[in-house]
Amino acid sequence: MPVFIKKNALLSCLQGAKNLHPHEFLGLLRGLVELRGVVVTELVLAPLSDYTEQESSFSPWFLPSDPSIIGSFHSHPTYGRKPSKADLAFFSRSGRIHLIASLPYSIGSVAAYGSDGKQMELVVE
Ligand SMILES: [Zn+2]
Repeated sequence: MPVFIKKNALLSCLQGAKNLHPHEFLGLLRGLVELRGVVVTELVLAPLSDYTEQESSFSPWFLPSDPSIIGSFHSHPTYGRKPSKADLAFFSRSGRIHLIASLPYSIGSVAAYGSDGKQMELVVE
């Protein structure tokens, strides 16, 4: 099942990634679960995010209990879009959709993963 994302939401994520480069950018994704799949509608900035160049950024970070938060977005400033071990551990316990963007932070440089770490098709709408 593909993941759908509103173009404006994705552009907000990519702008955040560009703004924080070479640091990692983190955000939460708000969305809806529809019959056709998950639809990401909005980027929500995570106030507790600790922006570093490391992959440790998730540790001080809590997903709010808000049920409209369906996943996360983060950037990989120095390597590709594959999830790290820390990413996979995080994915498995929080949210159902996780996006990773690599350089140059364009629409084509984003990959979507499920909580099991498997890549999912991402459809921009
Ligand atoms: Zn990562």
